[in-house]
Amino acid sequence: MPETATRPAGVHVHPARAVVDLGAIADNVGVLRAAAPEAAVMAVVKADAYGHGLLPVARAALAGGATWLGVAQLAEALELRAGLDADGADAAAAHPPILSWIFAPGAPLARALEADIDLSAGAPWAVAEIAAAARATGRTARVHLEVDTGMGRGGARPEAFGALVAAAAAAQAEGSMDVVGVWSHLACADEPEHPATGRQVEVFTEMLDQAERAGLRPRVRHLAASAGTLFHPATHFDLVRPGIAVYGLSPAPAVASSAALGLRPAMTLEARLTVVKAAPAGTPLSYGHTAVTTTDTHLGVVPLGYGDGIPRAASGLGPVAVAGRRYHIAGRVCMDQVILDLGPESTDVAVGDTAVLFGDGRDGTPTADDWAAVVGTINYEIVTRLGSRVPRVHVPAGREDA
Ligand SMILES: *Cc1c(COP(=O)(O)O)cnc(C)c1O
Repeated sequence: MPETATRPAGVHVHPARAVVDLGAIADNVGVLRAAAPEAAVMAVVKADAYGHGLLPVARAALAGGATWLGVAQLAEALELRAGLDADGADAAAAHPPILSWIFAPGAPLARALEADIDLSAGAPWAVAEIAAAARATGRTARVHLEVDTGMGRGGARPEAFGALVAAAAAAQAEGSMDVVGVWSHLACADEPEHPATGRQVEVFTEMLDQAERAGLRPRVRHLAASAGTLFHPATHFDLVRPGIAVYGLSPAPAVASSAALGLRPAMTLEARLTVVKAAPAGTPLSYGHTAVTTTDTHLGVVPLGYGDGIPRAASGLGPVAVAGRRYHIAGRVCMDQVILDLGPESTDVAVGDTAVLFGDGRDGTPTADDWAAVVGTINYEIVTRLGSRVPRVHVPAGREDA
């Protein structure tokens, strides 16, 4: 652990931690910049930077060459702006554009404009509320119009886009808004052969033409998240919005592993064994006695459970490495703990030794992809669901000796 690493107060007390390598974050942004050389990179840091820690990750992504930051919720945008502003003027790129794309009617949009947050509008009501906030604050709102090109989620459907554009053009003429962007989101970019991506690009291009015909000149046209950035150059436009790849994980491990993409997983989840003890063959383990030792053995207890975001569906399955050997969780995942059957020859494992649940996969340690595979989910969920009880320890770039 380098002296310069950020150590949250709890990390000395708590036996588990998520170590986040900020050099990996910066390097991964570099890989994404190279993948989309004509586009700017918006690092998506929603959901506490996919569980990695909002502000340290945002700073590392900016240091790696991201020039935009993206979040889903307004509260996240406000926290991000306040945190970056508090860094002071000497911090690199201290005041980047931040886009926030989710809010409900009645949200405090004036606060967003005062914090210099770019907002998304996908319906005329949103344009009206943003324009009202702009008039109330005397500011000109920077707005990105969202079109639903085939995700079926946010944004105006193509047949409703004309009304959205008309409302935005009127608000722009009045001076309350600057329509800086038009954007959409891809549904199937992680399946490189899927025909939906090409269709979404076509619809997006038609909607851009429609906005131009209405007199709008959006300078920031954006469509691609990680999979679009890495697999579909035709989706890059002016800006790409990668999230998962910033954290070093592949948006489609079945298509290309993170290593094949040149990405380095940033997070290592580890915990110190709080119990190591001998147990005879036939010892039942954990709630429901769903597992029973088959030999005289040693048991190790890892102080992480579903209260920390370890999926209970990983009962009997979740891979864990101790002293270079790989085990699986024995029996059910508890709220705070899981049990490992360390085997008869594991007397070299001692209480206090470190167990690694997932990391960058070097030295045979399990990965978030391994966890996702055994519980039937995606790597995104494995890292993002990690609970707030687990201290995050951020290792600065150039210091991998944590
Ligand atoms: C989450 C999100 C992203 C990032 O997606 P990844 O697949 O993690 O790269 C980009 N754009 C929008 C609108 C999102 O919601």
